Amino acid sequence: MTNVTVRAGKFAWLTLVLGCLALATGAQQAVPAKPPGPAESLYLKLRSVDLDPGKVFKIREATLDRAAVHISLDDGVIAFTESIGGHITGAFFQGEGEVLLSPPNTMERSSLALFTGGAILEERFSTAYFRFNDDVYAELTPFLRGPDDESEAFLSRWKETAQDLSDQDALRLLLTLGDGLAGDEKVSPANTNDHMLHAMLQGNKLGAFDVWYDTLMKEQIAAGQRKMVAGQSYYDLWISFAVPGPRVVSEEGEGAGAAPNFDFEITNFKIQTEIKPAKDMQSKAVLSVVARKDCRRTLVFELSRLLKVQQVLADGAPVEFIHNQAIEGSQLARRGNDVVAIVLWSPLRADQKIELSFEYSGSVLSEAATGLLYVGDRGTWYPNRGLAMASFDLEFRYPAAWTLVATGHKTEQKEEGGEQVSSWVSDRPVPVVGFNLGRYSQSVTYAGKIPVLTYATASLERGFPRTSSPSGPEIPFIAPGQSIAALAVPRSVQPPSPSENMRMVGATSARAVEFYERYFGPFPYSELAITQMPGAVSQGWPGLIFLSSFAFLNPEQQGRTGMDRNRLAMAEQVVAHETAHQWWGDLVGWSSYRDQWMMEALANYSSLMLLESHDPAKFRQIMQAYRDDLIAKKAKGMALADAGPVTLGLRLSSSQFPEAYDAICYGRGTWIIHMLRTMMRDGDRKSLPGRPKGAPDELFVQILRKLRTDYQGKTVSTQELMAAFEAQLPRSLWYEGHKSLAWFYDSWVGGSAVPGYDLRGLKFTDKANSTLVAGTITQDHAPHDLVTSVPLYASVAGKSIFLGRVFAEGDETQFRISAPLGARKILLDPEQTLLARSR
Ligand SMILES: [Zn+2]
Repeated sequence: MTNVTVRAGKFAWLTLVLGCLALATGAQQAVPAKPPGPAESLYLKLRSVDLDPGKVFKIREATLDRAAVHISLDDGVIAFTESIGGHITGAFFQGEGEVLLSPPNTMERSSLALFTGGAILEERFSTAYFRFNDDVYAELTPFLRGPDDESEAFLSRWKETAQDLSDQDALRLLLTLGDGLAGDEKVSPANTNDHMLHAMLQGNKLGAFDVWYDTLMKEQIAAGQRKMVAGQSYYDLWISFAVPGPRVVSEEGEGAGAAPNFDFEITNFKIQTEIKPAKDMQSKAVLSVVARKDCRRTLVFELSRLLKVQQVLADGAPVEFIHNQAIEGSQLARRGNDVVAIVLWSPLRADQKIELSFEYSGSVLSEAATGLLYVGDRGTWYPNRGLAMASFDLEFRYPAAWTLVATGHKTEQKEEGGEQVSSWVSDRPVPVVGFNLGRYSQSVTYAGKIPVLTYATASLERGFPRTSSPSGPEIPFIAPGQSIAALAVPRSVQPPSPSENMRMVGATSARAVEFYERYFGPFPYSELAITQMPGAVSQGWPGLIFLSSFAFLNPEQQGRTGMDRNRLAMAEQVVAHETAHQWWGDLVGWSSYRDQWMMEALANYSSLMLLESHDPAKFRQIMQAYRDDLIAKKAKGMALADAGPVTLGLRLSSSQFPEAYDAICYGRGTWIIHMLRTMMRDGDRKSLPGRPKGAPDELFVQILRKLRTDYQGKTVSTQELMAAFEAQLPRSLWYEGHKSLAWFYDSWVGGSAVPGYDLRGLKFTDKANSTLVAGTITQDHAPHDLVTSVPLYASVAGKSIFLGRVFAEGDETQFRISAPLGARKILLDPEQTLLARSR
């Protein structure tokens, strides 16, 4: 075992462990180095492995096939890496090669085309560095044509590059090879279907890019590229998809892009933290872990790189750990979280329970303003494994005069040795916990019996409001690398005081709680705390909202920030939006990155329904602003909508469209929920003509309430959301006679179009009691297979009368519909329920 921390940063491999330590902790004094343990030794070798001078060969007409990935090495030289514990894990190739990868669906083909200009990845490359955990060496041996005559020149040219690139997959390789380390018992690999190939290619046209095949991922195949634009670094994920075919991936298994070994569950966290303002904390976190199936010896957790782990115990016995900076270019780096890997003495077997105890400390806090602390951007302050439901037991020690607010409810507050000690327990399993510390003023208001406690400081953070422009209401739990536009505020403006407006914020949130309780059922937690957070982002955590200082400004003060009226109208909804996350996002979670949009869309739409209830004009203004943002032309004649569908999640924010995540997951997502709501309303009024007026959203609300009941404490996928609506689908929304929303999913959820509609060739035939209307609906700015349920109205004597909904498919759809006798004017979607271009 060891307590030496290692970073796998871009440059860290150059330095030795001691140097890294100083980097990681900013420590003034060198910490005495202990020899690394077996797992760390293995890890260090994996991340700086050399090419083997004895294994440089000519190679011809070789191929590597991994499901849809086809790589050919036509003619060139290949050098394999030195064997580590009997395993060859890498190879560097120079010569003529080609990669061929064909995405399985339209969404991925469009995504690929957006970045590469082609719907198929077909690229010749001149060099490649491969990293793998299986026997690629044996696979390529038949194609080796004897040793290369100029191997020395080859090695001296590529040695350093190969070594440079080798840190990227070291942790992933450790997961596989760590099981082979000698432990207390004879170990057999937990997972026989464990294959990984990462190709880092220098394309002739596309430049440097990556291709992955990794069976531990839910989406096993991916390709993408790191790109710098305007000083910002992006990772453009061109494609990512699951291998089509019979291989069944466990639904509760690994999330796409998530840390790969999610074969275990953490049922309970007991975290004791001592906080030393302004920056330091010292923590001990005890995790109750249960294996869902046979696991590996190496378990990976997220933990801020700003923290230093002192010790990890498994059932009381010290185990080796490797605390890692984000691993550049790897699947983990895409999620932007820092990780700590621990290596058990033997792998966990299915249903086995173990208690892991982590001791760590560091400067994870920032003091943003006098008396305002918060957990910084790299805020994974306890070892976690993504957003999974667990119960939490938190204890904090902190100096007098500070107020600490945490998720859960406070069970104890006392003084001990001149310090304050407070204990907090989660009311029910929650996906994430946090805290905030300040010299706050506080106010309390009630939403029914639920106390809403608001905490704010007298001053705004340094730099406000320069960094405070909510372009979207907030950034969700895991922030995408989005830029925040600076605001133009005259320097002469007196900075407003958050604590003055604290009551306003509390009252707004309490009103929202009461509104949502009527729609979605009881507030899930025993109380709601709202604390001020510096910067533009807000986050709604279970029972605790971190609210941007901006939201503590009153409307008049917000008006002075220079935002246009649409941004202001959106910004005003932030408190209600974050409050809605208590139901959507906290109580009901999302399954994978492809489903995250739902929680933003549902929370946002909930806040807009509240707005609509008292200010329908502003509701329409915001909806139109979302639509206009989506279709406004940007660079190269493209609009934000072209970045792709909501189901691409954080992938949307790329070097091409840095702001697309907000525009699409909030804007388009909100429209998708609006379309579902109005479809249910119209469908319902056709099938239940006798339904009492005044409850037009009965069916929609019923479906959401059931979604809450069915999925509270769990995660929900986009398909499950569709199924919830399908179960109650009114007959008029059955496309081609099927009780299914497949058409809606394909066209609107998995599509990116914002179409335009028109009516042509209307003919009116008066019958005995009604007028028969025939005509054509045209659909443009849309793919040919786009299907839309279009509401039609007749305008009779100045009144709009709903006639029914017609499925429009493709460019032109003919329809016949019955209207009140004498009708001569037909309106297409006059209430603007479709995400459509205005005519
Ligand atoms: Zn949100």
